Amino acid sequence: MARIYRDEDADLSVLSGSTVAVIGYGNQGRSQALNLRDSGLQVVVGNRRDGALEEAERDGFDVLPIAEAVGHADVVFLLIPDEVMPQVYGEQVAPHLREGACLVFASGYNVAFGLLRPAASLDIVLIAPRMIGVGVRETYESGRGFPSFVGVHQDATGDAGSRMLALCRALGSTRAGCIEMSMHDEATLDLFTEQGFGPAFGRVMMSAVETLVAAGYPPEAVLLELYLSGEFAYSLEKIREVGMARQHEYHSQTSQYGTVTRGARFLGLDPALKETMGKILEEIRSGTFAEEWSKNQAQAAEIFEKVRAARDAVPMMQWEQQARAAFGIGDAAEDR
Ligand code: NDP
Repeated sequence: MARIYRDEDADLSVLSGSTVAVIGYGNQGRSQALNLRDSGLQVVVGNRRDGALEEAERDGFDVLPIAEAVGHADVVFLLIPDEVMPQVYGEQVAPHLREGACLVFASGYNVAFGLLRPAASLDIVLIAPRMIGVGVRETYESGRGFPSFVGVHQDATGDAGSRMLALCRALGSTRAGCIEMSMHDEATLDLFTEQGFGPAFGRVMMSAVETLVAAGYPPEAVLLELYLSGEFAYSLEKIREVGMARQHEYHSQTSQYGTVTRGARFLGLDPALKETMGKILEEIRSGTFAEEWSKNQAQAAEIFEKVRAARDAVPMMQWEQQARAAFGIGDAAEDR
């Protein structure tokens, strides 16, 4: 059973007198900085001189160059994109960190796969929200909080655990619950969801669309039926709230009968699916994926360009755009 931390496990007073530097003011940076400040912590923002900096100043923060913010801080949140983090860390963070500072990562990726190696004199903790940045702020304001994967990776001062929990509480995360986890496990679960679950799920969706359109059903109607109406998203939300088994009860008897009697026919796909998922998981765990991505980052724009061109040529992308425009969903409403 995973260990789960709640508000009562955390003591905010261990941070009294501490200065927290939030490096990066993007998706996570802005929300986390606002939550920490509203919980009574002293927060400075470290950012390059640009639009994000102006937003942080409008929000009332002292904004300093990254190196200077780090030099002032007892706790440093690194909330910049994972791809640029090793270089920014080496050049602008590491040389300015105070002895015994606590370094907070919102993703275990760089440390877990050896792309960033912090000094032994630092506390290194993971506070990885299972929530997009906007949600980190909204759930704090609503009082619900958001769950996180958390863990102490390195305890140089003897206080890393209590500092981590106090920070989780100040962020609003122990309110929802923080699950203890290593950086390697957090990064692996995250990558597996992106590589082993997302694409497999997307493939199932495409197969269903192609089957129905080939059988003569209008593409707009097919996409509306499968996901554009929002009914499917609503069912997923119900699965979250009441569990897979009980959410069936929200559907008609005909639906329930069809699902259980036909569902078993797809069991035959299981071995192939699990074999592919197992290979993807192994590439992640062994660090092969991280090594490959590091090597290919210089060509990322070129790779994404090719993928986008191939993706845009898939008929479903046209159908989706037409259907979204027809029903006024999202940005496509402007295409009508
Ligand atoms: P963002 O892409 O939103 O970060 C943007 C910020 O990083 C901006 O302040 C930007 O500054 C700064 N930045 C970008 N490039 C550089 C650079 N080369 N040098 C200095 N500053 C730079 O990141 P996220 O908030 O999405 O992610 C931050 C961390 O949180 C990552 O570790 C991520 O894995 C993790 N995480 C993210 C989640 C999410 O929902 N996005 C969920 C859970 C964890 P500028 O404005 O100057 O470009």
